Amino acid sequence: MNKAKRKVVIAGNWKMNFTPSEATAFINEVKPLVAGKNGCEVVFCAPYVTIAAAQAAAQGSNISIGAENVHFAEKGAYTGEVSAKMLTECGVKYVIIGHSERRQYFGETDATVNARTKAALEAGMTVILCLGEVKEQRLSGITREIVSMQTKLDLEGVTAEQMKNVIIAYEPVWAIGTGLTATPEQADETCGQIRDALAEIYGRDVAEATTIQYGGSMNEKNAAELLAKPNVDGGLIGGASLVAEKFKAIVDAAQ
Ligand code: PEP
Repeated sequence: MNKAKRKVVIAGNWKMNFTPSEATAFINEVKPLVAGKNGCEVVFCAPYVTIAAAQAAAQGSNISIGAENVHFAEKGAYTGEVSAKMLTECGVKYVIIGHSERRQYFGETDATVNARTKAALEAGMTVILCLGEVKEQRLSGITREIVSMQTKLDLEGVTAEQMKNVIIAYEPVWAIGTGLTATPEQADETCGQIRDALAEIYGRDVAEATTIQYGGSMNEKNAAELLAKPNVDGGLIGGASLVAEKFKAIVDAAQ
């Protein structure tokens, strides 16, 4: 399968930004800007308490609202957590799992990322699984080893059939929120290495069918070049997903 047949997904990660009223205003602003842009799926992943307002504003549009995390247990004594069933009952289809900020600040490991991924997939959700190397790993020349290992550990026990509902977001940690962007060549090469790791686990067909996004300071200026690369099937966007005109330009670049 070549790139043209893979699903392209442009997803915003709002992180801890936008109250419900701010989310409503933002979706109302961005909705007409991305209307009819059918060359990609458009998703905004929102803080839990903002999801309902964002969904209401997005109703009838081509925008889907996702979550930024999900717990691995079905229910129980996990104060502060939210289950996949709770999200699906709220009509949430997409969920980001394993974002580097969760790995860095909230003790997320490949084991917990794997458990969350399986729980979300079993509930029928589509997972945006984030992985990527830190700066020292890139400088040491071990990026391929790192992303291959993360791919294998994070997807342990996930079936080839379930892979239809997995999107991988390659996010070099040194490029997230820093203004530093991987070059289009670096992004393409590493997305290709992740695809190779997928081929080792699931075979080439599944690897070639899997959407692999790039994330890390993608913006209205660099999106076209990044998205033109053969292994880059979309973007996970933080900062630029909070500015309607910037996000629109990225969606335009994906058409
Ligand atoms: C992200 O949070 O996933 C991200 C890529 O952020 P930014 O675009 O701000 O680097």
